[in-house]
Amino acid sequence: MPVAETLPPRIQIVEVGPRDGLQNERGVVSTATKIALIERAVSAGIRRLEVTSFVNPKRVPQMADAEAVLEGIARHPETQYVGLVLNARGLERAIAARCTEIGMAVVASDTFNRKNQGVSTEESVADWLTMAAAAKAAGLRVQVTVSAAFGCPFEGEVDPGRVVELACRVAEAGPVEVALADTIGVAVPSQVRSLVGRVAAALPGMTLRCHFHNTRNTGFANAYAALEAGATVLDASIGGIGGCPFAPAATGNIATEDLVYMLNRMGVETGIDLDQLIETSRWLESELGRPVPGALSKAGVFPKPPVAV
Ligand code: ZN
Repeated sequence: MPVAETLPPRIQIVEVGPRDGLQNERGVVSTATKIALIERAVSAGIRRLEVTSFVNPKRVPQMADAEAVLEGIARHPETQYVGLVLNARGLERAIAARCTEIGMAVVASDTFNRKNQGVSTEESVADWLTMAAAAKAAGLRVQVTVSAAFGCPFEGEVDPGRVVELACRVAEAGPVEVALADTIGVAVPSQVRSLVGRVAAALPGMTLRCHFHNTRNTGFANAYAALEAGATVLDASIGGIGGCPFAPAATGNIATEDLVYMLNRMGVETGIDLDQLIETSRWLESELGRPVPGALSKAGVFPKPPVAV
């Protein structure tokens, strides 16, 4: 296969299935299943996972067992266990539960920010700057996402200038990276190329991560465009499960196994074992009792490994 010369030789994938993937499941997913999903992902070579969120359990009941999940996992020394936090109380819980990294989100549209976290975008930016300092003082890595960066379910189009401005302001806290999220899966590749390029130009030297949902089947094209424009970290969920409880009609993330297949074939290293991912995706399907959106667990890899004679 020809190597794609416009892409980085190696990228990092953050597995977000245990949080973004499972938070929207209707049925209760047991703590044991969440722990098994995390451990399977680590065994497949994933070294960074969004394991849970420390939010109000009344608002997101699927994440009510955050502490139990972190307590139950066998820790891998080189792996980052990320907890999503939205306020000081969440940060306290994440530190107590021994997260090694926290992620925070500020939403590019004020209406969505208020629905998601109960305060204005401005207040969330201020909260982030305070929390990032506290988390760093406690020895944690910190990272931040500008959510709904490509479109808002309530306000419609989002001004790219506003996203660049927010990215620069949240970067002042000195995070390990800044992320742009297509929270509701409306982005298209030309838009991704343009916005990632603008943020990269505004924040030279900053690692950029992107988070795509495949709601309108543009997720993988967007991932490709993001890598060409300078992103070196991508979020994905095994099986392509997921959604946002506060965004109407939001569906799953791009599937980790489909993404790794695409990257492998283009010569982009991820350090992840594809066979183990596919097996985990099939296992997850049986745990959830329904088919997952990811394609590779149905279609299989290509080329098939030679049969021994
Ligand atoms: Zn998401």
